[in-house]
Amino acid sequence: MALGGLVVALVVVAAIRVPWSAPPAPRSDQLAALRDLPADAVAKGRAFHTALRPGAYGALLLGLIVALILGLTPLGARLIELVGRPFGGNWIAQAVLGGFAVVFVGEVVTLPLAAWRETVLRRYGLSTQTWATWTVDLLKAYAIGAVIGAVALLGYFGLARLAPRWWWAWAAAGAAALTVLFSFVFPVLVEPVFNKFAPMEPGPLRENLIGMARRDGVPVKDVLVADASRRTNALNAYVSGLGPTRRIVVYDTLVREAPPGEVEAVVAHELGHAKDRDVFTGTVIGALGAAAAVCVLYLLGSWTGLLRGAGIEAITDPRAVALLLAVAAVAGLAAAPMQSFVSRRIEARADAHALALTDDPSTVERMEQRLATNNLADVDPPKLEYLMFASHPSVVERIAAARAYARGAR
Ligand SMILES: [Zn+2]
Repeated sequence: MALGGLVVALVVVAAIRVPWSAPPAPRSDQLAALRDLPADAVAKGRAFHTALRPGAYGALLLGLIVALILGLTPLGARLIELVGRPFGGNWIAQAVLGGFAVVFVGEVVTLPLAAWRETVLRRYGLSTQTWATWTVDLLKAYAIGAVIGAVALLGYFGLARLAPRWWWAWAAAGAAALTVLFSFVFPVLVEPVFNKFAPMEPGPLRENLIGMARRDGVPVKDVLVADASRRTNALNAYVSGLGPTRRIVVYDTLVREAPPGEVEAVVAHELGHAKDRDVFTGTVIGALGAAAAVCVLYLLGSWTGLLRGAGIEAITDPRAVALLLAVAAVAGLAAAPMQSFVSRRIEARADAHALALTDDPSTVERMEQRLATNNLADVDPPKLEYLMFASHPSVVERIAAARAYARGAR
């Protein structure tokens, strides 16, 4: 019943806030764009992604297998018992340390592939990291994951003990609230852990960007520059945060490498996200999804075969952490195509916004080409991979859209 309500709410929010009726440019236009891209850059991007693929899919598969083995057999529950034993089987120790132990096993198994990925990034000149800074990044990410994971696990199992009958309703509300809170504090608490941010230096570029934002009706106090070059040679920009924490960030690499007009084209895309409040939309969808996931867990709790297989008595048993993580892994993979589809449509809308705001499709096209060449994009990725995982329209789609705008504007 509650799950039905959440699914309806999800569908309604998605229907209202996601631009469904904007299909990608015709394939023939995409192929024309592909032909006009420098062949060596296209080949290099393809080779790069071909080199990344075995590690990426290997890690995905290995992570899923480990999660399923630990979650669907009694092995996970036994591991959690073992970790909780020094603490007398205390539920907090089982839930939090047990959760860490289960995640740790998956991380250890996939760590070699993560390191291998980094070697590919270096071989292709995209990474600017040393193994020391790479390791520090990894440890920081673990620490943040540990804090969030501990809060989520303590909340889930704590509510299950406080409210044995209605725990799932409280947990659903809590999961939604946590998602919103995370989106809100992310730019001020999480991003500074990985990068330094400084207001863009005064000058014509900054003036133009602020002026463009004003023209667009998006009040932007500042454009922040991130020291992304400490990690990567890739060019990028993004919008994050909600309300008072909302900000537009450009990579220092972008400011360094791209002509001012192309930086403006990138920021015009980000202003599209800000104006359409895409972070808000994503957060609401995420919050509803998180609440629905808790309801699904509650329903799975009455599947005795599943519980027996996992060696636990109830889905609220702290030894169920491994099963929860297995369910999360499967749900994440199952949701990926829909999530990617929604993301691509939202990104295409931001692209359209950039074209309308700059009214300069040729600069937008040059910018797309520079980003693709510099970031070693697979400009026309394999169809299945695109449908499963592509968060953005492909480069050939984006260039075709810019050309369609140019034809329409003339
Ligand atoms: Zn975007």
